[in-house]
Order: sequence, then C-alpha cells, then structure tokens
Amino acid sequence: MGEIFVTRSSMPPLEEYIDEIRELWESHWLTNMGAKHKELEKQLRQYLEVEGVSLFSNGHMALEMVIQAMGLSGEVITTPFTFASTTHAIVRNGLTPVFCDINPENFTMDVSKMEALITEKTSAIVPVHVYGQVCQVEEIEEIAKHHDLKVIYDAAHAFGVTYKNRGIGSFGDASMFSFHATKVYNSIEGGCVCFQDQELGLDLYRLKNFGIRNEEVVDSVGANAKMNEFQAAMGICNLRHVEEEIEKRKRIVSCYRECLKDTRGIRFMKEQENVKSNYAYFPILIEGSEFGISRDCVYDLLKEKGIYTRKYFYPLTNSFACYKDQYDVKETPVALDVSKKVLTLPLYADLALEDVYRICDNIKALGGK
Ligand SMILES: *Cc1c(COP(=O)(O)O)cnc(C)c1O
Repeated sequence: MGEIFVTRSSMPPLEEYIDEIRELWESHWLTNMGAKHKELEKQLRQYLEVEGVSLFSNGHMALEMVIQAMGLSGEVITTPFTFASTTHAIVRNGLTPVFCDINPENFTMDVSKMEALITEKTSAIVPVHVYGQVCQVEEIEEIAKHHDLKVIYDAAHAFGVTYKNRGIGSFGDASMFSFHATKVYNSIEGGCVCFQDQELGLDLYRLKNFGIRNEEVVDSVGANAKMNEFQAAMGICNLRHVEEEIEKRKRIVSCYRECLKDTRGIRFMKEQENVKSNYAYFPILIEGSEFGISRDCVYDLLKEKGIYTRKYFYPLTNSFACYKDQYDVKETPVALDVSKKVLTLPLYADLALEDVYRICDNIKALGGK
C-alpha cells in the first residue's frame, strides 16, 4: 500500500505556469513589484473582498511587518494554539505575548477570557482563525473598540473563507494570509496583508523594501520581504483553480465526518454557522480513555501503516524550548488539553476517497480495545 502524506501542494498544469512566466523572459523584470505582482494584488483584492492587499515573500514576514507598521508597544493578547510564526512575530517585534485560552468548540480564542488579560500595557489582539475556523470577530471587535486596541488576524489558514457573506480578511485592522506550499492556496512561498487604511498599505510597501521611501530617503527600518514574479505567477495560476480545490476538499471532509462520526472517543469540530469554509484541515480529538489508546499511540501506529498525520498544534507555543520559563501553560488549560488530544488527518484536494476510507478503517481498528 502506498504512503499517504498529510498534505500535498496544489499545482496548476505545467503549460499554464509556463504561459504565465513567458513574459518574464521578455521583460527581465523578476522582482520588485513587477507586472505579475500588481496583477495578483488586484485579483486578490477582488477574490478576498478587501480594500487593500500587500503581497509578501511569505506569511510570516507579512505578519511581522504589519505588527511593525502598527507601531505597537507593550503587551499583545494572542493564542498559544497556533503555529510558531504567530508568537515569534510578536516577540521578534519586541512585544510581550499574553496568552489567552481557547474555546473547546472550535479552538479559537475564548473571548470570555480576553478582557481579564487586558492591562494598561496592552496595545493589540492577535487572534488566529485556526484551521480556517472563524474567530468570534464581532465580540473581538467590541472588546478592541472598548479598550482602544488594534486587531490583527492571523488568517494563514483562512484563505477563501467568508463570514456572513463577507471576506474574512475584511475584519479587524488587518489580516495576514499565508500562501505557503502546504496551504489551501499557494504561491510556492508567499503571503499577504489585507488592510482597510491606505496609509498602512503605504507603510507596508516601504517596510518590505528596506524602508525605502524614495531614491534618497530611507525613513524606516525595513527588511526584504518582497514577493517575486515567479511566486506571483504561481499565485495567479493557482487562484484560477482554488474554488474547485475547495470543492474537492469539501467532499473529502464530508467523507471523513461520515466515516468517523460514530467512533467512540473521537470528536471533531462542528460546522460553523454563517461561514463558507475552505476545509483547510481535518483535526480530530482523541479521548484516550474512551477510544482505548492515546493520540500519540494512534500517531505512531498510523505511521507504521504509511499514514502520516500531524500533531498540529502540539506543543503549544507557550511551552516552546525558546520560551522556557517565560510562560505558564497551566494558564491556558483548554489549549493544553486539546494539544494533547489533537491529530490532523491527511487532507488535500487530490486525496482519493478510497484513501480516506483506508485512513478511517485504520483508525477505527485501533480503537475500542
Ligand atoms: C503557515 C502559517 C504561518 C506562516 O506562514 P508562512 O507563509 O509559512 O510564513 C503563520 N501562522 C499560521 C497559523 C500558519 O499556519
């Protein structure tokens, strides 16, 4: 039996990509906001239904630079149940992350625990639409308004998601999307910031290009985080196919739900109301005492069968070795509990349904002993 990996990058037909990059051999314009870059920004503004889009070399730099552009200070309220990037982007800006627990239904920040964490040093909230699940955006907006805080969403998982028929990137002061090879939509590596305020857009444009204002004036301490033309061309091609890919993912997720729904000790997220999902991930929670064996055993035994899953997100970012003794995971008990039980199953547009059945059969065979 073949191996099944947790993800597989989406790629357009080769001819389509070649057609898209052909012009680059004429223009010799390979990076620095060229024609492909401009075209992709325009298309993404439309697709994501947002005011402004600024492209970046990757999602992490997009997040780092939008935090820098906001000129924040002190403390930032965020979640530990995320990829390393979210917490690192805060810390690398010289800010202190303050970790808020998550809710057990969809693993986004628990808004009922947020206000207790706000101090006079708090300057922003950085929530994550984890697994493409929509945060409680209305409640977050209200809290932010009341305490005069900025809201920057890590929407790395949420490409193509809408809430109440509104592009998810239009909530908060800004949102970051990742176009990494493993995400629902990719530009090989890449990412963007969506913003409402055009001034912020200009700041981002300069920051990703060394803080250069014009040929003779460099007035901010920027970095190099520009998306190049080959990435943008890949982004343009993949955007043509993304809706179709999301449809395929939807079928796979329905199949997983159907197959696993009556398995004792296995739980998964409910579908959210008013949300058009992108089916980015399919995480399950394994209650070891009910299922029969622990998440870690399931992970190992599936691996032996050639089925590669991921303990995504484990460990929590507030327990990373690089943050040793700085934070206390006991302050986010729900996140800690979920991180010990969660397992994300293989999911990509071209995953065959027979492979989904094979994965589910293997999981069910491990339980109930
Ligand atoms: C992928 C990811 C990022 C970083 O994006 P890159 O494009 O890989 O730099 C940030 N946050 C989350 C939650 C992610 O999953």
